[in-house]
Amino acid sequence: MTFTPEQNPRIQLNSGQQMPQLGLGVYKVGQDIGVELVKAAIEVGYRRFDTAALYDNEFEIGAGIRQSGLDREQVFVTTKIWNDRQGFDNATEAIDEALGRLNIEYIDMLLIHWPCPKQNLFVETWRAFEKALDTGKIRGIGVSNFNPGHLEKLIANSNIVPALNQVELHPALQQGDVRKYNSEHGIATEAWSPLGRGRFGENPALLAIAAKHGKTVAQVIIRWHVELGNLVIPKTSNPERLKENIDVFGFALDHEDMAVIATLNTGERVGPNPDDLG
Ligand code: NAD
Repeated sequence: MTFTPEQNPRIQLNSGQQMPQLGLGVYKVGQDIGVELVKAAIEVGYRRFDTAALYDNEFEIGAGIRQSGLDREQVFVTTKIWNDRQGFDNATEAIDEALGRLNIEYIDMLLIHWPCPKQNLFVETWRAFEKALDTGKIRGIGVSNFNPGHLEKLIANSNIVPALNQVELHPALQQGDVRKYNSEHGIATEAWSPLGRGRFGENPALLAIAAKHGKTVAQVIIRWHVELGNLVIPKTSNPERLKENIDVFGFALDHEDMAVIATLNTGERVGPNPDDLG
């Protein structure tokens, strides 16, 4: 079955935006392949891209979108402000720079990349984000790697509740507490490293579920995210996997499959604990 962008569910955000549930993550996508990868992804049906200042490819992602010929409003672009640009003035400048690099009229979703609790500047950074919404060049604002404690402080000291919280989330790190806090506060949960960076390829339980449905392990994990209601951004630059990873809307996991995957929650991270960074 060929995937069509209409099959990709839209998640309603508290910002009023509707965000395609599945997008392409582009961490470690080099500048040499960025433009062509975006065009290839759009060709097979992707309409959402997740980049960051850190990834050093915003220019290429923007260029790929412009060259694709799609109308701007048909594509949803997220980028993130890096840790060394926190604080009101610093973040305000960093937002302008991101807009300049992407060069696509506006940014759909802007995130604080990490809370950096030791810097303790995220409330000031958020003020810059709130102000940027007034320019119309930023359509939605959210956070990444925020624990409930960080969110509590942010919400108590600001006017706008983040539209989403992008956190490490995969079968080994299911983030029950973060997901619960997010949903109780109207914040969408987005999964980064949704495939655990490929570490589940040989997992017997996932291989068995994949065999049962005639799907791959990656498709089973992405489908698991879809059924949990997570926004999800698997990364690949391989043309076959691009198609494979978005072809997850023609099957469903059953209760038994979901129960088996729930047992894989060991708490093992692929990235840092947000309290330890910055
Ligand atoms: P991921 O879990 O998406 O894993 C990507 C890796 O999985 C690939 O490099 C490849 O090795 C493998 N893979 C992909 N498709 C496959 C398939 N069909 N079959 C077998 N293997 C496959 O890891 P990620 O890139 O770390 O995370 C995805 C995106 O999340 C990133 O590109 C980035 O946009 C975002 N991210 C955000 C943060 C943050 O702090 N906010 C941190 C890391 C990543």
